[in-house]
Amino acid sequence: MATDVRPRDPSIQPPMVPLATLIGREIRGGKSQKPSIKYGHAGFAKRGEDYFLLRPVCFRAPGDPASLFSVFAIFDGHNGASAAVFAKEHLLDHVMSTIPQGIGREEWLEALPRALVAGFVKADTEFQRKGETSGTTATLVVIDGWTVTVASVGDSRCILDSLDGVVSLLTVDHRLEENVEERERVTASGGEVGRLNLCGGKEIGPLRCWPGGLCLSRSIGDTDVGEFIVPIPHVKQVKLSAAGGRLIIASDGIWDALPSELAAKACRGLPAELAAKLVVKEALRKSGLKDDTTCLVVDIIPPDCTFVQPSILKQQNKFRSLLFGKKSKNGAGKPTKLSSVGAVEELFEEGSAMLEERLGKNISSMENSGNQRCAICQADQVQDDDQLVHSSDSFPATSRPWEGPYLCHDCRRKKDAMEGKRPRKSTMSR
Ligand SMILES: [Zn+2]
Repeated sequence: MATDVRPRDPSIQPPMVPLATLIGREIRGGKSQKPSIKYGHAGFAKRGEDYFLLRPVCFRAPGDPASLFSVFAIFDGHNGASAAVFAKEHLLDHVMSTIPQGIGREEWLEALPRALVAGFVKADTEFQRKGETSGTTATLVVIDGWTVTVASVGDSRCILDSLDGVVSLLTVDHRLEENVEERERVTASGGEVGRLNLCGGKEIGPLRCWPGGLCLSRSIGDTDVGEFIVPIPHVKQVKLSAAGGRLIIASDGIWDALPSELAAKACRGLPAELAAKLVVKEALRKSGLKDDTTCLVVDIIPPDCTFVQPSILKQQNKFRSLLFGKKSKNGAGKPTKLSSVGAVEELFEEGSAMLEERLGKNISSMENSGNQRCAICQADQVQDDDQLVHSSDSFPATSRPWEGPYLCHDCRRKKDAMEGKRPRKSTMSR
């Protein structure tokens, strides 16, 4: 299947030293409480449009073992594989290129959600310039110590089994059939949502967006559908407890066959490589090979832990979508003892499709003494009032002024298109 791709950004160069050795050194030095990462993958191809990325060893600062982080991703392509291949090869670099160099770990983690938004949009724009019509889901998981950040468009779900028996969803399914908010957004931006019409007026299948007939409301690529099918990811950042946890990232070939909790349960207690195989096997047993089926299992293991998974508290074994321990309360309004032990801390969550809300107002837009740097594509431009997004030439009179960071002309047009502020067509080949 897919092979690993070498990074171009020097900050995420391939390792000189194996991960296990690095972590072993840190543990022996007694200075680090960083967990270790073990992972496995498995899958079956039906159409050959699923791709994945395994990058367990990346560095924020080149050559500094203390700046280690890991990245795992799944791209489930449709209408051809080229968007999935493109995202696999370029998405991570685009995300990393928007994070300032030389900042500390905390700042880096704080900058990550915005960088993920910018990187996804940039990858989408670049792919669309190629004029190809395929599209892809993208679920990108960044693990730094106990902090897990997940960005996703589409329906390649990522779940967290926090090993105290709670299974949580770290992504949102951007499916028109199931996501009312997304249906409303697409409709408000000029898309039509409906089922496939057979001759005779009979409607079949899931809700789709027209033109194009896509079931997803967000993706990378898809040049031939409306621009309200946006690449702006849902982003969630959590901090695991010292007990660690297991991530299961998979394409819909898994999730259409197995509910999240069943997938987690099916592989508990097994090492990651075996766990991934078992989840795939279980999905195929239930539904057969109807679609590309890809599964990554990533274990985040405490440094002093020699076994894969501690025993499970059965009574807590409930699937709680978007709910974490801190929200579990007893009658007195205080967290229960059980739920506060090993609770996952939610650091960040945002799923809005509005770039202004995602890029924030406080990014420094003035850099290089007088030059503007686009918050999405990172292109520098000399300040010129004609180029400022505030003095847009394409806003309808009803639009309020943009209050986000500086965007170059192309990225501003992209933003307007995604928000339905200009008629479809124009720069994209259709
Ligand atoms: Zn730009």
